[in-house]
Amino acid sequence: MSEHDEVETAGPARDLADRLAARIRADGPIGVGAYMAEALYDRRAGYYATKDPIGAGGDYVTAPEISQMFGELIGLWTLQCWSDMGAPAPFRLIELGPGRATMMSDVLRAARLSAEFCAALSVTLVEVSPALKGVQAQTLADAPAPVGWVDVLDKAPAGPCVILGNEFLDCLPVRQFVRVDGAWRERLVALGPDAEAGFVFALSPAPAAPGEVDLIPARLRDSEDGALVETRPTIEAVMETLAARFETAPGHALFIDYGPAQSEIGDTLQALQAHEKVDPLQLPGERDLTARVDFEALAEAARARGLKVSGPKAQGAFLNALGFEQRAAALSAARPDMKSTIARQVLRLCDPDEMGVLFQAICVSASGAPDVAGF
Ligand code: SAH
Repeated sequence: MSEHDEVETAGPARDLADRLAARIRADGPIGVGAYMAEALYDRRAGYYATKDPIGAGGDYVTAPEISQMFGELIGLWTLQCWSDMGAPAPFRLIELGPGRATMMSDVLRAARLSAEFCAALSVTLVEVSPALKGVQAQTLADAPAPVGWVDVLDKAPAGPCVILGNEFLDCLPVRQFVRVDGAWRERLVALGPDAEAGFVFALSPAPAAPGEVDLIPARLRDSEDGALVETRPTIEAVMETLAARFETAPGHALFIDYGPAQSEIGDTLQALQAHEKVDPLQLPGERDLTARVDFEALAEAARARGLKVSGPKAQGAFLNALGFEQRAAALSAARPDMKSTIARQVLRLCDPDEMGVLFQAICVSASGAPDVAGF
């Protein structure tokens, strides 16, 4: 941030692209991860600092925005986890990146089934976006438990917990490495040959240091020339936090996101604007940037810290194991006018050609924790 501050105080307020260009001109190309971090999190102009990205009028639609059944089932799953832990009080329900809090509102609707659970419960939302915090506060105005906010998971109150993260990990920055002549080089963002060209991809002149090569999933480390791999160092940090937390109190962290069960090569950095894929290097801060989640790397990072891992399991199979089809049938019977809408929602969330296989669920728990439902 200090580099920014210097650039900002050196001249009139400029937009994020100008500031990034000035930084690259002064210090040289930056890693894709650094670019992504600035585009998403710059305090003044970053995407999450300034936008409400979700829903029909936003840039993308997420599972809880498609159907209330998604959050309700996860609410029942949470109740089950709490009961299996011996119904501890107080109990923390923590959500990472709650968006418009649609899922939390559906989770809490299911939670109302147990007055004892609601009495034990406090909700903590981990959110960086001031705009979304405002939306969340409105959505959860009638929550059956106190709701608080923190900006990082480490600051969430200690104690027995369930942690939820739907489409949270995909927006954490990735670093990219490309195999060239048998060595790994980091993929960078540089300035094009002229002012018109904007940002372009480049490769680091020097091969990656051994410590950086260690970031690359073991299965991909000997890939052929031309292969591109992505690593997400912040997943290690999240697993570190979970391991520390679960040492003192039981808990489960459920992540649902898009990405393969096994590490794969390929450039998956994408920008979405108004539901269309656009150039990730244009208009930083204006567009959502994500990259798929490597569930194998996540599971390895968790196991390396002694955590228990359930899954990954394809979203469709996970939801059905939680009783999605029965819930949809019951809802359709109660609301015959909604039957075709509900059928479409089930299809979008569970069909292999829609989100059913592209998205996976994984649960990370304290070592020795009892099995959780759905896996
Ligand atoms: N879970 C929601 C929203 C997904 S969008 C849903 O399924 O609809 C990603 C969410 O994560 C947004 O709320 C965004 O503001 C938040 N977010 C992104 N990066 C974050 C970070 N590093 N820390 C906390 N929240 C973050």
